[in-house]
Amino acid sequence: MRVSGTEISVEVAVVGLGPGGEALATRLARAGLSVAGIESRLVGGECPYYACVPTKAMIRAADVLAEARRVPDLAGEVDLRPDWGRVAARVRDEITDDWNDQVAVDRLAAAGVRVVRGRARITAPGVLDVDGQVVRASRGIVLNPGTDPAVPPIPGLAGTPVWTNREAVRATAVPASLIVIGGGPVGCEFAQVFARFGAAVTLLQANDRLLPQDEPESGALLAERFAAEGIDVRTGVRITAARYDGERFTLDLDGTEPVTATQVMVAAGRRSDMAALGIGAYGLDESARGVTVDEHLRAADGLWAIGDITGAGAFTHISMYQAGIAAADILGEGGPGAEYHAVPRVTFTDPEIGSVGLSEAAARAAGLTVRTGSAQISASTRGFLHKAEGLIKLIEDADRGVLVGATSVGPTGGEVLGALVVAVHAQVPVDRLRQMIYAYPTFHRAIEAALSDLRG
Ligand SMILES: Cc1cc2nc3c(=O)[nH]c(=O)nc-3n(C[C@H](O)[C@H](O)[C@H](O)COP(=O)(O)OP(=O)(O)OC[C@H]3O[C@@H](n4cnc5c(N)ncnc54)[C@H](O)[C@@H]3O)c2cc1C
Repeated sequence: MRVSGTEISVEVAVVGLGPGGEALATRLARAGLSVAGIESRLVGGECPYYACVPTKAMIRAADVLAEARRVPDLAGEVDLRPDWGRVAARVRDEITDDWNDQVAVDRLAAAGVRVVRGRARITAPGVLDVDGQVVRASRGIVLNPGTDPAVPPIPGLAGTPVWTNREAVRATAVPASLIVIGGGPVGCEFAQVFARFGAAVTLLQANDRLLPQDEPESGALLAERFAAEGIDVRTGVRITAARYDGERFTLDLDGTEPVTATQVMVAAGRRSDMAALGIGAYGLDESARGVTVDEHLRAADGLWAIGDITGAGAFTHISMYQAGIAAADILGEGGPGAEYHAVPRVTFTDPEIGSVGLSEAAARAAGLTVRTGSAQISASTRGFLHKAEGLIKLIEDADRGVLVGATSVGPTGGEVLGALVVAVHAQVPVDRLRQMIYAYPTFHRAIEAALSDLRG
């Protein structure tokens, strides 16, 4: 690495240090390349500070409360006094280091990465402007800028103290009442957490079901559970206007009474700005929502992109998986390209909703000869013992006799999913899965029942 005046010259510049960017920069530097990692906010990206990690800490706390509330049914009496202060303190002190990334910066520096603070913009192939400082990258640039929360263009909402995930993870108190806009994974996770800590939660979903990317059975079961926990779930709604009077929000709904709450949270999608990144310098479309890449994550000659902006799945595990492939390509190691037929997705609600590969609808739309099989967790011995709801659903490509998709909903749905990810990833013949021994009495034993149920 050379530094002259305001210019830094390296072999590779990584723009945005999300989970993948951090891993990739570390690997390249350890392999001997000179690397600059450029970050405008916090090294590590959304996941450790505003997303996966703090939200799962909140969910862990909310799940403990829910378990305690099951004590009277199964084990005796409990005196329960929820205290959000402990959750907020854990998120601040243990999880995010008070939103301080010094440990991550030091780790990168120790690996040999030059960490540059600032917002990068490509000005020419291999050249970046970082808040007035020029960074030249002789071998190439890797983009890992992630996305920002989008606030929907509801008249009256802009300028109000509405929460996105970034404010919600910093909440030091539970709002008395909360409207969550968006019934995808993020909205559902936050809705259940705050409801379990005592907020009166209304969940507004434009789509006609929760978790529309998942099997309809998953969203239906979650809606039932939410209703049982007192969450007011409204699907198929259109919000026409918003007002905030300094204490309460009011949202007008098309064709029904307005809803009010002391807090509104939006979880209605993410946005990215390709023009601000300057990808036009490589001849790429700056009006696009992301960057198109090939199986080695190449976007153009000397330009790679990883993470949410590639559209392969907005998950930390995708960002890190792609980082490994892009690093191998940059280092000239060869190796297999990225494949996405077995991307696992977990929504950490209770019940936990895991899925992999194609949904039934997607498999049919792809023209496959589809066979499906299902089993209820409550019909399994472990489900009966736990008094748990959930399901396994399998999607088979009947022509090839392999699973192309699967869903696992239940108390540990994301963990049970692991077995199904192996099956879909390795395309294990369904006949071979039927010969497997499933431990008794586990939740994953319901997979065996779902295999028996496979039919056209
Ligand atoms: C509430 C919530 C919960 C989630 N939970 C999970 C979960 O449980 N599991 C899971 O797998 N995924 C989860 N996700 C998704 C996950 O957070 C992302 O997929 C993950 O962070 C990977 O994103 P990324 O690598 O694309 O970049 P990001 O993590 O978004 O990081 C990109 C970084 O680039 C920086 N940057 C952007 N532009 C520039 C620029 N021009 N110059 C310099 N720096 C720049 C940003 O400041 C940011 O730090 C969740 C998301 C949300 C919102």
